[in-house]
Amino acid sequence: MEKKLTVILENCPQDHKCPAMAVCPAGALSQKDFEAPVVDHDLCIRCGKCANFCPMKALVLE
Ligand code: SF4
Repeated sequence: MEKKLTVILENCPQDHKCPAMAVCPAGALSQKDFEAPVVDHDLCIRCGKCANFCPMKALVLE
């Protein structure tokens, strides 16, 4: 089955600008205020860059 990016809300402190947005080559991550980032699955190319980048393991590609 094709992998899908999931945001693990309980792993995201939701107190900062999400730095993983800057590593996404597809512009698939967006964020409202300091809330956890939201994935646009139509834009996401499932590259895993954000999942590898996030130190909190709040973005999981599986
Ligand atoms: S998996 Fe890649 S394309 Fe998808 S949101 Fe993460 S960085 Fe962007």
